[in-house]
Amino acid sequence: MTEPQDAEARRAIKPVICYPVETLPVPDMALFDRARANLTKVDEVLVPPRDAACFTVPAGHFFRIKSVEGSQVGDLNLWARDDLSERFYSGKTRALHGTHITTGQRMWSSFPHLRPMATITHDTLGWYGKDEFGGSVHDVIGTRCDPYTHQLLAGGQYHHCCHSNLTRALAQHMAVSVDQAEPHVHDVLNVFMCTGFTRDTGQYFMKASPVRPDDYLEFYAEIDLLGALSACPGGDCSSQHSSDVAACYPLLVEIYRPDAVFLETIKTPRRNGYDGTHGT
Ligand SMILES: [Zn+2]
Repeated sequence: MTEPQDAEARRAIKPVICYPVETLPVPDMALFDRARANLTKVDEVLVPPRDAACFTVPAGHFFRIKSVEGSQVGDLNLWARDDLSERFYSGKTRALHGTHITTGQRMWSSFPHLRPMATITHDTLGWYGKDEFGGSVHDVIGTRCDPYTHQLLAGGQYHHCCHSNLTRALAQHMAVSVDQAEPHVHDVLNVFMCTGFTRDTGQYFMKASPVRPDDYLEFYAEIDLLGALSACPGGDCSSQHSSDVAACYPLLVEIYRPDAVFLETIKTPRRNGYDGTHGT
């Protein structure tokens, strides 16, 4: 293929950030830190390996996803508790915050809501940063392991991919069929997963998660939330997923209530201000 004469000049143009976040509403981390100093654990849900479970978090409460027993990756879905059409928007969260999220960044909801659903308030893996391969932790680039892609690439019927685990858990929670639950399952936050894009081919890669038992990722629930978490069949995702080969461990979800004074002061973020008329 022949290059145009000014090919190098075109490549040399400096990139600009698509979404400068200087005008993005900033979470009050000092307020969250004060609230974190006085939390009472009110509930917990243990997610079995190669399976998923649902949990609810009232607005103003905190929840932690915690590593127990062994290095394990989790796939997280979030919905507005009383309206499943408002759900986590992985793609827009990625566009706003980048490929991986950590303390101070948020999980944003789908259109037409586009508001923060949860803010990350603590990340014991925050030290990891970016490694020499461009890898980092807690990505919003992977979608979730699923039986359809597995069928396409490897053939066979595997029923414990995160997509199926999340579908079963939601079906059970909502007391509906898997056919009714499946359309609600969406692209995840890959909790504890260490991923990136290869520099040469730009392909999505994974490597063994740096997570160890007692590590946790903590969130503040901006609105009433329904969550579903899958303990990925890939375990620490060091070699493969979508199979029963990897060592796999449970994950613990803990729900914390802050004190009454804090709960009285909280404000739930409003739905996005666009009028929805789309020029009509
Ligand atoms: Zn998975």
